[in-house]
Amino acid sequence: MANKRTILVIEDEKNIGNYIEAILTSNEYKVLRAVNGRTGLSLCTSHHPEVILLDLGLPDIDGMEILQTIRGFSAVPIIVISARTQEKDKVEALDGGADDYITKPFGAEELLARIRTALRHRLHAGAGQPHIQNPVYSKDGLVIDFERRLITLQENPVHLTQIEYKLVSLLAQNAGRVLTYDFILKEIWGPYADTDNQILRVNMANIRRKLEANPAEPHYIFTEIGVGYRMLE
Ligand code: CA
Repeated sequence: MANKRTILVIEDEKNIGNYIEAILTSNEYKVLRAVNGRTGLSLCTSHHPEVILLDLGLPDIDGMEILQTIRGFSAVPIIVISARTQEKDKVEALDGGADDYITKPFGAEELLARIRTALRHRLHAGAGQPHIQNPVYSKDGLVIDFERRLITLQENPVHLTQIEYKLVSLLAQNAGRVLTYDFILKEIWGPYADTDNQILRVNMANIRRKLEANPAEPHYIFTEIGVGYRMLE
């Protein structure tokens, strides 16, 4: 039998834990379960899981604290499990080092897709490093050559402003991950810039006009409402 990938599920709600375990085991993953933070941390250090699914609302330790503790010693991909009403928590978790989040209730296909994405990032990341930049992003006719700073769409050059280019390349280098508004603003405009989401929305609207066949239904850059943007991987 091939080496199964190990997923650690830290979730105190038994029925959700059972649901996740059933999906994962029937898809050839090995599942470790913890119903509280202490067990979760101890399984993380003893078993070195390849992905962690982390519920933020746990009975003993706050999920954010667990996230920070794990980030202190490991770059293992962490997908936060959250309720739909906890938008602020999602943003905080992503800014705090989570790789992605999944909102309850979720389907098997979404869960599996997010885990595959997390595993790919882990492979790209190598040991200890957050992520290595690919020299080129290429997807469905959109090609970004980061070294030459060139963007082409169906082989036609796309002309972006400096800021637009920075924005697109930041998203492309993190394709598949949700980047929060706050993170993007800090990366592009600097930590002390006097900016708000409005400037980001304006730039994104311009980018979509240049890249998307239908800006109202984007194909390359998706809006995660209230959270941030995610680029097609
Ligand atoms: Ca919970």
